[in-house]
Amino acid sequence: MNAYATPSDEEAIGLYLHVPFCERKCPYCSFYSEPLAEHEPAPLISAMIAEMDRYRSVRSFHTVYLGGGSPTCLPVQELARLLDAIRSHCPSPAEFTVECNPGQTNAEALAMLRRHGVNRVSFGAQSLDTDELEQLGRRHSPEEAIAAVRLARKEGFDNVGIDLIFAIPGSDLAGWRRNLELATSLDIQHISAYSLTYEPGTALDQARRAGRVEPVDEDTDRAMYELAIDYLASAGFQQYEISNFARAGFACLHNQGYWHNRPYIGIGPGAGSYFQGRRALNAPDIRRYVEKIRTGEEAWEQSEPIGRDERVCETAVLNLRRRQGVNLAAFRQATGADFLEVFDNPVRRHEDQGWIERTPDAVRLTRKALAVADSILCDFSAL
Ligand code: SF4
Repeated sequence: MNAYATPSDEEAIGLYLHVPFCERKCPYCSFYSEPLAEHEPAPLISAMIAEMDRYRSVRSFHTVYLGGGSPTCLPVQELARLLDAIRSHCPSPAEFTVECNPGQTNAEALAMLRRHGVNRVSFGAQSLDTDELEQLGRRHSPEEAIAAVRLARKEGFDNVGIDLIFAIPGSDLAGWRRNLELATSLDIQHISAYSLTYEPGTALDQARRAGRVEPVDEDTDRAMYELAIDYLASAGFQQYEISNFARAGFACLHNQGYWHNRPYIGIGPGAGSYFQGRRALNAPDIRRYVEKIRTGEEAWEQSEPIGRDERVCETAVLNLRRRQGVNLAAFRQATGADFLEVFDNPVRRHEDQGWIERTPDAVRLTRKALAVADSILCDFSAL
């Protein structure tokens, strides 16, 4: 059941844990991660458990999300140690997700996740096409991703999601449709679909700059996104956020917390937090992070208070990402501000253009605005 009522901040805190290891770096990825082979994982897991212990005062976490990186590349005893510690902090979260790499998932691992109270798994499938996976530098095959999903269902997970990427170099609309057909033929409840981005500093972006990779053109990219919305709707997946689609009752509770702008605590190197009115970012370096925890220092390297205006803007931008948009009463309750008063100018302007629509209770992006959402949302990012 999708139980996202409107709990108080205290009840609704999310817990995110970042396992910063991968087998090797994917060329498009800008998340903080390092090759597992270059590190001893035990000290890092101990440090993450110690960091979690610092939040004993938080009575309960509404949701838990174990991501990375690739949590499933951890040696099984280290993963179990981390899961045990999470369980002792959060005996019964409404949702407990673990990101799984399809090439690293077997029946034993899935059974262990179940035993530790994990009730949702999200597979980084990225594509169900062999050539596209090769373009992305992924090591798993489409068959492994499909087998991993089936295994998860067999092991008793009734909330299974996959991530897909579109606009992969060399791909076309017909290929993307095949991906969507195959994905929706699986017994899954959630699909995240993102356009490939060329993040500065990644190997993929360097290849693009050097002319070794040709990005999919903008029109095709947009057509792929529109196809995802239509195709997934026809297959019973409701779009509930710009890039996220779920069967009824299976929208991700943890990520909804972010879009509601509710507090969360991030554990591990490179993890971000929004807690007690501050945003903080942990040291994005395994050695520095472990040392900070060992010497009793704060784990973060950046921490800043979020003022009232910032909170108003952040809440607006995050809320507008949801298909439900900004609930005017909830916005006022969360920020103390009247959305229509504060954002009178951009709302009117974008309404005239057909990018924004209103109901008596809410303001949201129109369907045609979704593909260009970022350019609209930036008008809500400052007062
Ligand atoms: S995409 Fe996933 S598996 Fe690849 S490097 Fe990034 S976090 Fe690791």
